[in-house]
Amino acid sequence: MINRTLFENTETAFRLKSDSELERAYFLFKMISSQPLVRIGTAATNFALKANLPVEGLIRSTVFDHFCGGVNEDDCLSVIDDLYTQGVCSVLDYSVEGKAIENQFDNALEKILKIINFCDEKEAMPIVVFKPSGFGRFYLFQKKSEGKIFTEDEQAEWDRIVNRFDKVCKLAQEKDVEVLIDGEESWMQDAADDLVEEMMFRYNKKVPVVYNTLQLYRWDRLDYLKALHKRAIANGFKIGMKIVRGAYMEKERERALEKGYASPICKSKKETDDNFNNALNYIIQNLNDISVFIGTHNELSCYLAMELMETHQISKKDNNVWFGQLYGMSDHISFNLAAEGYNVAKYMPFGPVKDVMPYLIRRAEENTSVAGQTSRELSLLKSEKKRRNL
Ligand SMILES: Cc1cc2nc3c(=O)[nH]c(=O)nc-3n(C[C@H](O)[C@H](O)[C@H](O)COP(=O)(O)OP(=O)(O)OC[C@H]3O[C@@H](n4cnc5c(N)ncnc54)[C@H](O)[C@@H]3O)c2cc1C
Repeated sequence: MINRTLFENTETAFRLKSDSELERAYFLFKMISSQPLVRIGTAATNFALKANLPVEGLIRSTVFDHFCGGVNEDDCLSVIDDLYTQGVCSVLDYSVEGKAIENQFDNALEKILKIINFCDEKEAMPIVVFKPSGFGRFYLFQKKSEGKIFTEDEQAEWDRIVNRFDKVCKLAQEKDVEVLIDGEESWMQDAADDLVEEMMFRYNKKVPVVYNTLQLYRWDRLDYLKALHKRAIANGFKIGMKIVRGAYMEKERERALEKGYASPICKSKKETDDNFNNALNYIIQNLNDISVFIGTHNELSCYLAMELMETHQISKKDNNVWFGQLYGMSDHISFNLAAEGYNVAKYMPFGPVKDVMPYLIRRAEENTSVAGQTSRELSLLKSEKKRRNL
């Protein structure tokens, strides 16, 4: 029997937080639970950064330090070591966004190759991550997904993208590191899926090195997984799959409405939840062929995964099942799962303060819109404050 009150344990959840860090986290979630404050804060911060006002220090000591590991890899080291004392691994996530030019794609490539070499020496870092649009223009992924023909220059540019993917996956295989490839908007995802499948074919022959992402707010994804499963068996490769619900729901729905096609998103939260849980079930039953990284802050999905693992007699430390949460969120899930002996990793964003702002703003907005999540964080922090008599 699994322990269904596991995530209530705030002592384990916040063991690494000093009293003042706990107070800061409480203050922060309290602030971002207010929609007007987030709006004003976002606008003021953007303005201040553009105007070169000296606000970096303030951002660093508040949102940045809560949601990011540091400004560079070395900066993150002490945080990575701290998490690992509690059995939680880290996935360094170079979160610089929105710079769609060739030398930035090469920079991102160099960064991730460096991280893989870094991982080679550190047990606390068995996994790396990148975004397809971090390695090439979104436009090209979209054009390819739409089945349009590239110009000669575009083809050359696409070949460079393929090459970047290949370099990362090849080095990861050599260094025994797993690579998660993030899922993005549905209108570019077909091209990314095909490319990731090609990488799985090349590098997942014996064990899964390359992981794609299945966004289960899309109603077509379970069928996609089943079809991929057939191809994997026929062509002799293992599937690595990160499963998530999906981060671009509003954007997806708006575009579908605007362009007049059927929305790719499930009709309700319940449908998404069912879809997610069905995919989890399918994967756990086919763990010989499919390995999974469960990227979620949903407690029920985590309990379900634990239950399924127990039913199918899968060891908690089986390398084919990992749980993942974002750094700065849902510590009650991560640290309690790790204390129980499960494989857990936190996505740890890093980068210069200015460049990770879009990431931080999304976290703030997400925590504002997903009201349940913030109030859950707040109530857990409150319990822990009470437990410590703060
Ligand atoms: C480690 C990690 C990695 C991630 N990587 C990616 C990634 O590569 N790509 C990506 O897109 N996202 C990614 N995410 C974000 C993820 O997709 C979710 O947006 C986020 O985790 C919230 O979902 P949940 O399962 O944690 O929790 P929940 O709070 O239970 O679910 C919220 C999610 O449910 C869905 N939803 C909410 N309302 C409705 C509705 N009315 N109808 C239909 N569906 C609804 C949405 O997807 C929403 O984000 C990642 C998350 C984590 C923790």
